Amino acid sequence: MPSNSALVDELRWKKFSVLNDGFVCLVDVMGDDSSIVQAARVSYGEGTKKVSDDRTLIRYLLRHRHTTPFEMAEIKLLVRVPMDCWRQWIRHRMANVNEYSTRYSVAIDSAQSTPAESWRTQAELNRQGSGLPLPTETGEQLTAEERHLHDESRRIYETRLAAGVAREQARKDLPLATYTEAYWKIDIHNLLHFLALRMDPHAQEEIRLYATTIGQQIVRPLFPVIWEAFEDYRMGGSSLSRIEQGVIRRLMSNAATSGKAPPYGNEDFMAVQDSTWLDLTRCRERDECRDKLIDLGLLRRE
Ligand SMILES: Cc1cc2nc3c(=O)[nH]c(=O)nc-3n(C[C@H](O)[C@H](O)[C@H](O)COP(=O)(O)OP(=O)(O)OC[C@H]3O[C@@H](n4cnc5c(N)ncnc54)[C@H](O)[C@@H]3O)c2cc1C
Repeated sequence: MPSNSALVDELRWKKFSVLNDGFVCLVDVMGDDSSIVQAARVSYGEGTKKVSDDRTLIRYLLRHRHTTPFEMAEIKLLVRVPMDCWRQWIRHRMANVNEYSTRYSVAIDSAQSTPAESWRTQAELNRQGSGLPLPTETGEQLTAEERHLHDESRRIYETRLAAGVAREQARKDLPLATYTEAYWKIDIHNLLHFLALRMDPHAQEEIRLYATTIGQQIVRPLFPVIWEAFEDYRMGGSSLSRIEQGVIRRLMSNAATSGKAPPYGNEDFMAVQDSTWLDLTRCRERDECRDKLIDLGLLRRE
């Protein structure tokens, strides 16, 4: 595999913008696709060279969740993130972090602002999610109020500092939208885990933007073979539980008897659902199974 040192030089310290004033940038990288191959060949022996080329080996390792070779490469980023988003980010414990101290230094004078068209309604079904955009007139008012709140809380913060209040106490009423900065170092195994969770549509849009930027702008060029396998098996892949396989088998068996061709209707799906779902009016597992079958072209979206 070709060396990626020229690419690293090109990417290092390049700020990729996220939100109104956030960014991610690569500080350092250790290893590339070949580091994973090199580590794996220690455990599997030189013989593997004969049966699989580097790409095939990486794809095999990722497919079968042989994780330790992916811990042999690391990246270090500098990130600038609003504190509410950082609160979700920092839950990923398998990383090394050093964050800007607002006890030691004056808090960064920048808060995440929301464009008028970017306010989202509460999702109806998913209690953790967002729904449709709010009307722009409502958004304009919310954005104006947001600006007022940010300006006012900053003014109070600076008044406290001017009055001699300690920075560690003065900061307590700054909004969660205030940006923080941190160095974040993580190995590729744990980074892929972070990206799989935080690029997923279930993650909040703001952290999804950061994860997608890291993935597309930094990981993809630096680790092209790993990225391809990650997209094929992790982001673009899907698993079928024992229960879901049972549903598909019964669906196909009924179809063979009736002679119907796919896509089948919801009544066909409900007729072959798992027995444990029968008494449930709402069942998330059944909904997820239905979605998978729609994606596979076995069911119609109704
Ligand atoms: C869509 C979404 C919604 C979420 N909602 C909530 C919520 O409502 N409330 C909430 O509190 N959190 C929530 N989270 C956070 C989530 O529960 C995890 O804390 C977060 O995603 C970090 O995942 P992790 O622990 O796998 O990652 P890491 O901390 O990076 O750990 C990686 C892996 O290392 C192993 N590991 C790490 N630490 C330990 C340990 N101490 N013991 C054993 N194994 C360990 C585990 O295998 C783990 O998967 C949400 C996350 C997502 C993506």
